[in-house]
Amino acid sequence: MYKKTARELHQDFVEGSSSAKQIVSYFLDRIHAFNPKVEALLTVLNERAMAKAEALDEKRRLNKPLGKLAGSVIIVKDNMHIKNEKTTCASKFLEHYKAPFNATVVDKIEQEDGIILGKANLDEFAMGSSTEYSAFCTTKNPWDTDLTAGGSSGGSAVSVAANFAPLALGSDTGGSIRQPAAFCGIYGFKPTYGRVSRFGLVAFGSSLDQIGPFARSVEDIALMQEVIASPCQNDSTSIQEPPPAYRQELSAPIKGKKIGVPVALLEEADPVIREAIEEALKVYKSLGCELVEINLSSLKYSIPVYYILATAEASTNLARFDGIRYTTRSKAAQTLEEVYELSRGEGFGAEVKQRIFLGTYVLSAGYQDAYYKKAQKVRTLMIEDYKRAFALCDMIALPTTSTTAFPLASIQDPLKMYMQDIYTISANLVGIPTISMPIGFEKKKKPIGMQLQAPLLRDTEVLTFASHFAKATSFHTHTPPLFDKEPSL
Ligand code: GLN
Repeated sequence: MYKKTARELHQDFVEGSSSAKQIVSYFLDRIHAFNPKVEALLTVLNERAMAKAEALDEKRRLNKPLGKLAGSVIIVKDNMHIKNEKTTCASKFLEHYKAPFNATVVDKIEQEDGIILGKANLDEFAMGSSTEYSAFCTTKNPWDTDLTAGGSSGGSAVSVAANFAPLALGSDTGGSIRQPAAFCGIYGFKPTYGRVSRFGLVAFGSSLDQIGPFARSVEDIALMQEVIASPCQNDSTSIQEPPPAYRQELSAPIKGKKIGVPVALLEEADPVIREAIEEALKVYKSLGCELVEINLSSLKYSIPVYYILATAEASTNLARFDGIRYTTRSKAAQTLEEVYELSRGEGFGAEVKQRIFLGTYVLSAGYQDAYYKKAQKVRTLMIEDYKRAFALCDMIALPTTSTTAFPLASIQDPLKMYMQDIYTISANLVGIPTISMPIGFEKKKKPIGMQLQAPLLRDTEVLTFASHFAKATSFHTHTPPLFDKEPSL
C-alpha cells in the first residue's frame, strides 16, 4: 500500500477495498518502524488520526458525501497549527506550545476528509537549508542517511520520499519546499504568493512565505492545490478568485509552447546537474516545445536582497516571542527586562539569533535607506527582469539546486549555506509559481531536480508542463531502497 498515491488511496477507500482505519494504522506502523532511521517527524498524532479514521469509516457507512482526500493521509510541517496540538517550529522556545486554532490549510484538508498523521521536522522557524538547525533532531536523506534531506521543510519531503504518506505540506520562503524536494527525488510546489492562505502558518518573511504540497505524482500536487488554494478571510494577502480546476488542466497541450532557459545561469551548477537539465530539455523538445535563451541577470542579486528583506521581516515577526506569550520563560529571570532578554537568549538557536540581529540592523535608523529600501528597489528590478523574460517564453526552466544533496555537517559556513538558495529565491521575491520535479539521479542514487517557473497566477500551467514530463519519464517512480519494503516490526 505504501506506493499508492493519494488518488489511489482515495479510490480504494471509496470503492470499499480498504477502510480508513486500515489505511491510517498501516501508515502509522510504517512511521513507527522507519521514522527513527530518518527522523522526519517531531509529533505523531496516533490517537487523533485513529479517531478521525473511525469517524470517516462511519461517514462512509452512512453513505454521506465523501471529500476529495477521503482515504488519504497527510503530514504537515511543524510550523502550521493544528488545534490543541503542539506547534514547535523545531524551536526549544516553543517546545510546549499548543495551538489554540487550526491553520486554514488544516481546516481545508479536514473538510475534504484528509487525515493528518503527524508534524514534520524543519530548521528552527524555517530558517535553513538542511534541517540541521532544528533544536530537536536532524532529518536524514532517505536515499543515503549520511546526506542532508535539505531544508527547511526536510521532514515533510522525507515523509513523502520514504512513503510515510503520499502528501505533505511545507512552507517556502526562499526555497524550502523546492530544495528538499530536489534532494529527495519528489515534487515540491510553491504556488503564486497569496494562492494558499498563510493563516495559522507561523510567520517568517511575510511577503515571501507560501505554503505548498510535496507528492510523488503531479496529480496529487494538483489534488492538494484544489483543496488548499482557496480565498481566506483571515489572510489579507489571500487571492480572492476561486482556485482553478487544477487536475482538469493537467493534460492541456504544450506543443508549440516556448521554454526559456537562462543559459548563463546554468554555468553556476555542477556538471552533473547541467547534464540532467540538458537531457530534461531534450524531453520537452521531443514533446514539441521550443527552447529559447533568456537573460535573468538580476538573479545574481537574489541572495543579498533576500537576506536583507527576509531577515528584516523575521526580526519583526519574531518579536512576539518574548517569554511572556507563547514561549518558555527563563527560570533565571527576575525583572521584566530579564524575562525578555534571558528567555530569548535561551530559547532561540544560534541561526535564528543571527537573523534577528541582521534584520534589526538593516532596519535600524540611518541604515534603512542603505539596505532595506535599496533591497526593495532591486526586488522591483527582478520583477521587471522576469517580465521581460516571460515576454519571450511561456515557462522558464532552471536547476533547483547547484549540487545534489550534500553530506550532513559538511557546511559550517552560514554564507555557504545561504548559497543553497541561489536558484530558488528569485521566485519568492517575484511571487511566481514554481515546481521542483525529479529529472534524474547522480550515480543512480542522488536525486536531481529541475524547476519550472511561470508568470504570476499561471499555477496550472506549471503543473501541466510537469505532468507531460512525468508521462514521458519515470524518475518520479523510484523509491529509496531502504524504504522500498514493508517494515519488519
Ligand atoms: N534556506 C532559506 C533560508 O534559510 C529559505 C528558507 C525557507 O524557504 N523557509 O532562509
